[in-house]
Amino acid sequence: MLSVEQARDAILQTVRPLTATERVGLRQSLGRILVTDVLARLDVPAYRNSAMDGYAFRHVDTDLYQRFQVAGISLAGHPFHGDLDVGQCVRIMTGALVPVDADTVVMQEHVTREGDSITLQRTPKPGANVRHPGEDLRGGETLLPASRKLNAADLGLLASQGISEADVLRRPRIAFFSTGDELKGIGETLQPGDVYDSNRYTLFGMLSKLDVDILDMGVIPDQPQAVEHAFAQASRLADVVITSGGVSVGDADYVTDTLRKTGSVDFWKIAVKPGKPLAFGKLNEDCLFFGLPGNPVSVMATFLLFARPAILKLRGRKRHTLPEYLAICDTPIYKSPGRKDYQRGVYRIDEQGQWRVSTTGGQGSHILRSMSAANCFIALPLLSGNLEAGARVSVIPFTDLL
Ligand code: AMP
Ligand code: MG
Repeated sequence: MLSVEQARDAILQTVRPLTATERVGLRQSLGRILVTDVLARLDVPAYRNSAMDGYAFRHVDTDLYQRFQVAGISLAGHPFHGDLDVGQCVRIMTGALVPVDADTVVMQEHVTREGDSITLQRTPKPGANVRHPGEDLRGGETLLPASRKLNAADLGLLASQGISEADVLRRPRIAFFSTGDELKGIGETLQPGDVYDSNRYTLFGMLSKLDVDILDMGVIPDQPQAVEHAFAQASRLADVVITSGGVSVGDADYVTDTLRKTGSVDFWKIAVKPGKPLAFGKLNEDCLFFGLPGNPVSVMATFLLFARPAILKLRGRKRHTLPEYLAICDTPIYKSPGRKDYQRGVYRIDEQGQWRVSTTGGQGSHILRSMSAANCFIALPLLSGNLEAGARVSVIPFTDLL
C-alpha cells in the first residue's frame, strides 16, 4: 500500500502545469493566473494633487503675508487654470490638481475665511499636503508579477491604469462521468437496488471552487462500447478525466478493462480511509486520469486529497496541499491503526481562542450526510488507534473546498 503522501507526490510529479494562455477582459480575469509581469503605464499619482481639502498657495509668500486672496477654485475633475499673483491662493479639494504656481496646501481647519480672503492660523511646512506624480508608483514599474492570482484589488489596480485586458493561463478542462448500472439520474424512477447519482454533483461543486471548465458527461452504462467511447471523447476534450466507481480490487467491469488497455493507468491501494482504491495515470500525453472509488464520501475525500492538488498544479499554483490546524477533540475517536483516516468533524474556536472539534458520528464511506454536516476533516495518522476525548488532533477546514 502507498501512503497518502507517496501517492500525492507521485501524482504531482506526473503533472506539468498548463502553459497555454489567453487574453481576457478585466472582469473575466478575476481569479485567473497572470502569465507575464504587468507594468504600470501611468505614474501614480499621475499629476500633482492635494491630500487635503484646503487652500493652495506659494510658500515663499508667507514671508510677506498671512492673509491671502482666493483667486479661484480647483476641484477634482475641474482644475484651476489661471495664474497666481503674489499673495493669492486657490480653494482646493482632495485629489484636485495643484496649480503650477502653488507648492503648498493648508488644510481648511487651519485658516479663517472672510469673504474672498483667508488668514493662516497655522503655517504649514513648505510642500505640505501635496502629492507628487509617481510618488506611489512610477510608469514602467512592475504593477503585478507573473503567476499572480488576480483578486478584486488587482482588478481595481489594472483599471486604475486604464488596462482593460489581461493575459492569463487557459483554464484546465475537467471532464467527469459516473459508472455503475445501479445509478439513476434525478427524475428517473428508482428500482430496488438503484441509487441516484450524487457523485457528479459533489464533483461539480468541488470543481466549481477551482476556476476550471467543467464537462459533466453523465452516467456511462456498463457496456464496453459505451465505456470506450466515453474515454475516447473525454480524453480528446479534457486536460483531466475523472470517473467515480468501478475501481475496487476484483472489479472486473468494463471501466477497469478499458483502462488496462490504455496501458498507462495504474491501480493503487492507498493507506487511506475513506478511499483505498484509486486509479491514476494518463489517457494520452495531454490528459490525466483519476479513477475515484464510488462511495459518496470516498469520492469527495480522494478528490480533495489527490485530484485537487493535481488540478492546482496544472493551473500554475505553487501550494497544493491542504492547511492543517491543531485542535482538541471533545469526543472519543474510533480508529484502527494501518490507514490514515480523514474523519468528518465539526470544529469551532472557543472563547479562549482554542480550536475544538467533535466528530459527526458514524464514519461509513457511504454516509454522505456526514460530509454535509461536517465543516472539516479530522486527519488521523496511519498508526493511531482509538483516541479519548481531549486528545489533540489535526483538522482540515472545508473553507473554500466544498
Ligand atoms: P463502486 O466503487 O463502483 O464499487 O461503488 C461503491 C458504492 O458507491 C456502491 O454502493 C455504489 O452504488 C456507490 N456509488 C458509486 N457511484 C455512485 C454515484 N455516482 N453516486 C452515488 N453512489 C455511487
Ligand atoms: Mg460500481
